[in-house]
Amino acid sequence: MKGVRKICMAFDLDDTLFKEREYVKTGWRAVAEAFYTFADMSAEELYNLMASAPDAFDALIAIPGIKSANLQIADFLGVYRAHKPTLTLPHDTELALHRLSERGVALAIITDGRTLTQRNKIEALGLDKFIPSDNIIVSEEVGADKLTPEPFKCLMTRQSADRYYMVGDNPIKDFYHPNLLGWTSIMLRDREGINVPSQSLDDKEPDYWPQIFIDNLTQLPDLCLPL
Ligand SMILES: [Mg+2]
Repeated sequence: MKGVRKICMAFDLDDTLFKEREYVKTGWRAVAEAFYTFADMSAEELYNLMASAPDAFDALIAIPGIKSANLQIADFLGVYRAHKPTLTLPHDTELALHRLSERGVALAIITDGRTLTQRNKIEALGLDKFIPSDNIIVSEEVGADKLTPEPFKCLMTRQSADRYYMVGDNPIKDFYHPNLLGWTSIMLRDREGINVPSQSLDDKEPDYWPQIFIDNLTQLPDLCLPL
């Protein structure tokens, strides 16, 4: 149909499509399950100890049984990063993606991190139901993170569109290159104050700022209109 333009909307993953804190918790549970026998406590007790410590892995390494088994933080990290998380897609995310799909918006994910870790999250959240595999860009897979323009350019070669949007939470890396590439940048505000990275814009140059602020992903379908 003439006059209808193709829109591509890319999302950051952590603290945008779901709260990274949920992943951190299931990671600690996996680590507790893997190492509790060394700690002379139950997996639940070990999880609670990690969850209440200023630094979960420092607390773990200080336990005598863990120390005498010569376990290292790298051992905990290996389990944490490779574990298959149990995650639920937030209702607002599901609703927004469903509505955007219905309107013919091409959806994508651009995320920094390890392939195994990020793909496990995407699978656990069921995001592959909404987003084709080719439109999922993980920094380790493309050899460049969002501090460079490469992941964004990579999406532009894979998904043609007349207009691109980037929706993210982190002003350090989610908006700068999209802004320079002529995309529309949107920041999901952290209303509950539980995001892992800070959202402070105070010390950021204007190019790092998002063009639009939202409080809920369900606001997105209306922002895409009129086509
Ligand atoms: Mg993020």
